[in-house]
Amino acid sequence: MQVMAGTVFSTPLAGSAGAMLALIRSGTATTRSALAQVTGLSRSTVSQRVEALIARRLVYEAGDGASTGGRRPTMLAFNADAGVILVGDLGATHGRVAVTDLAADPLVEMAAEVDIATGPDAVLGWLEETFARLLDETGRDRSEVTGVGIGLPGPVEFATGTPVSPPIMPGWDGFAVPARFRERYGVPVLIDNDVNIMAAGEHWARYRHVDDLMFIKVGTGIGCGIVASGRLHRGAQGAAGDLGHVQVAGYPEALCRCGNLGCVEAVAGGAALARDLAALGLDASSSRDVVRLARAGEPEAGRLLREAGRVLGEVLAAAVNLINPAVLVIGGDVAEASEQLLAGIRESVYQRSLPLATRHLQIVRSGLGDRAGIIGAASMVIEHVLSPAVVDAQLAAAAP
Ligand SMILES: [Zn+2]
Repeated sequence: MQVMAGTVFSTPLAGSAGAMLALIRSGTATTRSALAQVTGLSRSTVSQRVEALIARRLVYEAGDGASTGGRRPTMLAFNADAGVILVGDLGATHGRVAVTDLAADPLVEMAAEVDIATGPDAVLGWLEETFARLLDETGRDRSEVTGVGIGLPGPVEFATGTPVSPPIMPGWDGFAVPARFRERYGVPVLIDNDVNIMAAGEHWARYRHVDDLMFIKVGTGIGCGIVASGRLHRGAQGAAGDLGHVQVAGYPEALCRCGNLGCVEAVAGGAALARDLAALGLDASSSRDVVRLARAGEPEAGRLLREAGRVLGEVLAAAVNLINPAVLVIGGDVAEASEQLLAGIRESVYQRSLPLATRHLQIVRSGLGDRAGIIGAASMVIEHVLSPAVVDAQLAAAAP
């Protein structure tokens, strides 16, 4: 059975094999008797469902646990080697590709220059070949591929996996990205915006205990991914988090690539900072030059990054009041090149947000760096393919 991405499963399948897998994965119940207790089902029903999960290699018996008086119970554990996920994080000019296990840990990964503007046929053809080559390197079989996840540098309609009027991706508008991978591998294929998968990666790897998080990417432009109540918040059209084009006061001359004046991206993004550094006579034409100058300790770069942080912080202060996140994670190569940007953001956010919203707010740098995207894409696919409904559907299809 093919379960569509974005399908809403309204009834929790309490006590199904898929629900038991979720209990084992989360550590809520890791023995047959604990599963019986939590689900209220009989030992024999629980055993039958656990056997089905073991037969699918999703669960294994991990030895004996501590005795609570009688016989030592057999511990059950999730088998992260039960399949592999193929993931790609495609930016404007470079991409990162990986094969991960079912815990989102990369088994093999690589980065390459790839120009998104060459269009979907060229880029996805390259991605397909790279997936095949990396899969070969892991020694795993094509039949072990459980899902595919891809991030793209533009707005994506998540339910269908199609880019929607992406400004820097000529030829991609409305292109059915999932189809060619679904045909080849016969598994769920999820496509999302690159900043959303970075937000998902930080949440999965470092902040799974936190329900509300915002990830801000400062690269050439500025974008934002929102995790609300433990889930990515994509909005009605997949356009949620498009923070870069919020207008800031005091910059009526700053022309943005969207055509408007005074967008925060046109003041504090990497391309804008390169423009300002060049105006000061420094050798800068792109956000990469901003990164290079900041890393080299160029004082003007540091000063401009601090000011950019303050301006971005004003917009973030409003977002913090609106969303009330527990953590603001700041990532992207410009943000990672210097402490100054983060310092400027902190200054404005703590000054301008409401005290209640900032009382426990953490503002931190990305801990995953340029790997946030692939880990996030993998986690997004894993949460889908291991969800109770999808696991139950697969078990039902495999049953004799
Ligand atoms: Zn704009």
